[in-house]
This record gives sequence, structure tokens and C-alpha cells, in this order.
Amino acid sequence: MAKPSKEQSVHLQELRDFVVDVMKDMPVWADMDVELLRSIPLGVLRKNATQRHGVTRWKRGVDVHSLTLHTIETIDLHPQLLTQRWRAYSAFVLHHEYIHALGFREHNSLFRQLEHTWPGRSASSQGLEFTEFLRRSKALWLWCCSTCGKEFPRQKPSRRRYRCRTCNTLLVDKKNPSRLNHLPPSI
Ligand SMILES: [Zn+2]
Ligand SMILES: [Zn+2]
Repeated sequence: MAKPSKEQSVHLQELRDFVVDVMKDMPVWADMDVELLRSIPLGVLRKNATQRHGVTRWKRGVDVHSLTLHTIETIDLHPQLLTQRWRAYSAFVLHHEYIHALGFREHNSLFRQLEHTWPGRSASSQGLEFTEFLRRSKALWLWCCSTCGKEFPRQKPSRRRYRCRTCNTLLVDKKNPSRLNHLPPSI
């Protein structure tokens, strides 16, 4: 949806080359021309996207039955994935989108099997972590427990109305210091 910056483009190209190179060595893709994947344009999702980590967009007006690699408009990844911290997970996400690009449109059991042939074993579990990271980077407030130290990222202050479920301590509001303050207003 958003146009990638120069830096993001460089990062996306490196990621693409890495993922395609790995796929060339994966037995499941031996019969597929994975080199063609390099021709698909890569972009970034809007910064405040939270539900999706990556998406394959098809050109409009193309019949469902004639969707091929050449009818893909773009594959977009979440811009927050393009950092060293999320490198392993971003490769997993791009591989996921490339499976769609190779003609597997549904998230059925075959798709999940293919997805799990990706060699980075811990990568899929990083998905939950990344979701939590996004939630936290959007939250205005942290509801803090002074007993156990837990912090709950939220959009609204708790105004001393909530207690920690574990300790029963009254939660205290703190402005979230790790909020990404350059986010556009959510739509
Ligand atoms: Zn998918
Ligand atoms: Zn607590």
C-alpha cells in the first residue's frame, strides 16, 4: 500500500535474494521455477497495520482461475519486519507469501505443510511475538503492576480501576515510552 523508502527497498531485495536462494535448496520446490519469484515487486504495508504481517496482492480484474505469478501486483510486508531483530521471521513471512505466489491460494493443510518445510524452525513462533510487539508499539498507555512488574499495553488509561490478575495490586498508568510516535492516525 505504501511506497517503500530507498532503505526499505534495499532491505526487501536482500530478503528476497535470501529467501529465493534458500528455496532453491528446498526439495519441496525442486520442480518449481522459484527464480521467477524474483520478478515480483515487493512493497510495504502501512505502518499502523496490525492484523497482517504480509500480503500478496493480485492485479484487479483477473479471473480467479487464471491467477499466476505474472498476475501478482505486489507482495507487501510489514515495515516493522525490516529490521535486524525480525530478520528470521521476515524470511518466514516472505516464504509464506511466495507459497501463495506459486499457486497455493488457500491456507489449507497442504499450505501449512509447505510453510513448515521452511528451515528456520523457531521462525513461525515469532509470529505471536511480533503481534505483541506491534500492539505494544501502538499503545498509548502501559498499565503497570508494582508488585510483579508486569505491564499491559493499552490505548486508554486505567484510571485506578483495574487490578493485576496475579497480585491483586492496583495498576498504575504510565505513558508508553516505546510508542512509535510517527504513526499516522488510525483509519
Ligand atoms: Zn497467507
Ligand atoms: Zn502483578
